[in-house]
Amino acid sequence: MPGQSQAHVLIIGASHAGAQAAVSLRQMGHTGAITLLGDEEVAPYHRPPLSKDYLKGAKSRDEILLRPADSYAQSDITLRLGERAGSIDREHKSVLLQSGDTVSYDTLILATGARVRRLPVPGADLDHVFYLRDAADVEAIRDRVKAGQRAVIIGGGYIGLETAASLRAQGMEVTLLEAQPRILARVTSEAMSGFYRRVHTEEGVEIIESCMASEIAQSDDGLTVSTSCGRQLDAHMVVIGIGVIPNAELAEFAGLDVGDGIEVNAFCQTSDPDIYALGDVAHHHNPLYDRALRVESVPNATEQAKTVATHIVGKPKPFSALPWFWSDQYDLKLQIAGLSDGYDDVVLRGDLANTRSGAAYYFAGDRLLAVDAVNAPRDFMTARMALSKGRTMDKAALAGPDADLKAAII
Ligand code: FAD
Ligand code: NAP
Repeated sequence: MPGQSQAHVLIIGASHAGAQAAVSLRQMGHTGAITLLGDEEVAPYHRPPLSKDYLKGAKSRDEILLRPADSYAQSDITLRLGERAGSIDREHKSVLLQSGDTVSYDTLILATGARVRRLPVPGADLDHVFYLRDAADVEAIRDRVKAGQRAVIIGGGYIGLETAASLRAQGMEVTLLEAQPRILARVTSEAMSGFYRRVHTEEGVEIIESCMASEIAQSDDGLTVSTSCGRQLDAHMVVIGIGVIPNAELAEFAGLDVGDGIEVNAFCQTSDPDIYALGDVAHHHNPLYDRALRVESVPNATEQAKTVATHIVGKPKPFSALPWFWSDQYDLKLQIAGLSDGYDDVVLRGDLANTRSGAAYYFAGDRLLAVDAVNAPRDFMTARMALSKGRTMDKAALAGPDADLKAAII
């Protein structure tokens, strides 16, 4: 094998994790060949705007590119688009593409992300029933957007709620079905779910919780969605956002350790030291929470890409980043620092029941676990700083609109 800095690094998956890994490798001085291979036809782009500005038609394809398409060649990164990897031959260190080509590697990075979970009901494959994961999905949805027509959204996670806001902005009537007793149940507390239910209702979205689609049928001028709660909903289009599944099969068939995603160590190395995995597909240990996680967010993909690059160039820095997230809906910017599951106490700041800003601080005993901040950047920034350093905040010192948040860090 050539010296590490001369090694050919093959990256499968050309999105947030893969593109950042390629660029970070160059920035950190890797001089060997880098191939960035992805099955989408277009240069890597930002996924977050897909359910927001791109769906609203406020941004073009060029405006959502991660970096200019020609910048990869300028950094001597070979971009192979529209190419799907079919299998890994670890013995010969090569990857067989579905086109029949074989690409050899010294180091392999799996940045294959996640794909949508399919709705297992009759009619989910009809025309005008959409999922939303890539730019092509959004372009198909946009073609069907029409003011005054009705959309039914299945799933009340980030995809469902951001899509609801973007379709309302274009004058569509929107009904959203959520299987759980409350929207955003996977990611936040009762207080925040209630806040988002209220705002969406104020914006004209009908939210139906504890209700699942049981069938989608073609009707004269559109679709009819039958539900477990007895409602029949007519729709001009249906958008489904019921979660994702990690694309771990390449790793699994190559005999790597796979559980909820591809198992990796603190440097994002898989059970084969010449193969790394990162981003949505990687099941890793987070030292700040001392537990194994798979995190579906851009900051996680970006940080893990930098971790992988440090290891490949021989300046290893273990992964230790605080998970954080954001979501834009209407005039609301939600910013989340940390992971709230396991909390036993919530301290609320602001008036989330009546206004459009505020924050929820989640504690386990006296330990701060996470903060959800809506239009409250000071709460987010301060909590993120505290959590990143493994510190907590004094519950009593958080009271009142003029609280000195920095002084509350202990
Ligand atoms: P992906 O982005 O899933 O990329 C994986 C790539 O690999 C894809 O292009 C895939 O086609 C390709 N691929 C898979 N298998 C193969 C193969 N065998 N051969 C070749 N190519 C392959 N996160 C936030 O933090 N904030 C947000 O506001 C936010 N909004 C989002 C909005 C939408 C609509 C979506 C869908 C996601 C959003 N996310 C957001 C989540 C974020 O986009 C993901 O966490 C992030 O894209 C993960 O990056 P990744 O590179 O690990 O995986
Ligand atoms: P999600 O956050 O997992 O939410 C999906 C929701 O749909 C869950 O509450 C789920 O409940 C529910 N559901 C499942 N089956 C259902 C059914 N048959 N009928 C009605 N509801 C059902 O996933 P998502 O919203 O689809 O998002 C997909 C990915 O994109 C995630 O990685 C997400 O983080 C990412 N994303 C992020 C952002 C952001 O960070 N701002 C924005 C958009 C997308 P259960 O939990 O019971 O399955």
